[in-house]
Amino acid sequence: MGPLNLPRSVSVLGSTGSIGVSTLDLFEQAGVEVEVVALTAGRNADRLADQALRWRPRIAVVQDEAALPRLRERLKGSGIETAAGSAAVADVAAAEAQWVMSAIVGFAGLAPTLAAAKAGAVIALANKESLVCAGPSLLRMAKLAGGAVVPVDSEHSAIFQVLDPQSAAHVTRLILTASGGPFRTWSRQQMSGATPDQALAHPNWSMGAKISVDSATMMNKGLEVIEASYLFAMPPERIEVLIHPQSIIHSLVEYADGSTLAQLGPPDMRAPIACAFAWPDRLPWPAPRLDLVKSGPLTFEEPDPERFPALAIAKQALAAGGRAPAAMNAANERAVSAFLDRKIGFLDIAGVVADTLERMERQGLAAGADDDAVEGARVTDAAARRVADEVVIRRNSLALE
Ligand code: NAD
Ligand code: MG
Repeated sequence: MGPLNLPRSVSVLGSTGSIGVSTLDLFEQAGVEVEVVALTAGRNADRLADQALRWRPRIAVVQDEAALPRLRERLKGSGIETAAGSAAVADVAAAEAQWVMSAIVGFAGLAPTLAAAKAGAVIALANKESLVCAGPSLLRMAKLAGGAVVPVDSEHSAIFQVLDPQSAAHVTRLILTASGGPFRTWSRQQMSGATPDQALAHPNWSMGAKISVDSATMMNKGLEVIEASYLFAMPPERIEVLIHPQSIIHSLVEYADGSTLAQLGPPDMRAPIACAFAWPDRLPWPAPRLDLVKSGPLTFEEPDPERFPALAIAKQALAAGGRAPAAMNAANERAVSAFLDRKIGFLDIAGVVADTLERMERQGLAAGADDDAVEGARVTDAAARRVADEVVIRRNSLALE
């Protein structure tokens, strides 16, 4: 094997989260020697400081200014610079790292991801919300600046690995697999009483809270359909979702000649992260191996639109285009947070998203195409959050009557 052509300098945005921790763990396991330019976190100063002392970045940044004193105290005398605030996160995202892991959760990841794209970095994209809200602009900016966007989401990594760009014109379908989440076999009646703890207990993957709830509603798969449509320039009607509870086949690509290619592996996010880090090379590391005899039968089911309405809502938002996906994403972020705060029930999450989109359509906000798509996404995000919060309050008071 010849020498690998790996990135020499990296930044990890959202380093203290599930994907961020997996990224640094992969580096450790693979014995990767990289210069770490920046590590960023939301508010967990202690975990960020531990990571910084191990990886020696030039700068460590917390988004929450209240966490800065603690970060400073922990890194005193280390020679590692510190900073705080959303603007500082976006600033360091644009610093000269060759490879940037975008692993902040939610719309908050958009500005830093765009900054990294403008700087021409190779972006390992976990933050699917940024693609959903401003996909075409983000991809265009990365291309213009000479960088690239490599998907980390396991389904999109699978498609990325088996979709030969030379044969893209002959693709007939992308098939995204979904585990079905913790409520795959629950009735609507049972789901109406589901608690945050139950929604957070994913059968196959250990992930951050927001994406865990998204998996339970299957809004995660809805976001992923939008993500796939932008990443692979595929119209919505050619993207399908298939429930596969074992999470071994990560997605499939069907070609016009009847051949279907799939990518398989144990459910471990370090595998798609390794792929995004070394592409087009392959990073050797002690990866958990797939044992098809031990993993047992692989099974498949059709998703149930009655119990998982979020999937259809996302497809409609994609078909509507313009700002609808950004509005949907914002409403979902607010609804998930209200559910985790026990302000609404589990089934209300999709209900809040649907009501928000309907109200916004009536106000003509979801439609308008803006010259500046990114600014448009920002305006839509803020407006949809306000409407969603009103819808939450309304549902909350109805439930109390
Ligand atoms: P997480 O909640 O575990 O981590 C989120 C990270 O972002 C943390 O470092 C947190 O401190 C930081 N953060 C939170 N709010 C912030 C803000 N306002 N500004 C700056 N930083 C902020 O989430 P996760 O599970 O690691 O997911 C991260 C992203 O990756 C999400 O977009 C998710 O959809 C995507 N993703 C995750 C997985 C997974 O297995 N966890 C799989 C596929 C895609
Ligand atoms: Mg996924």
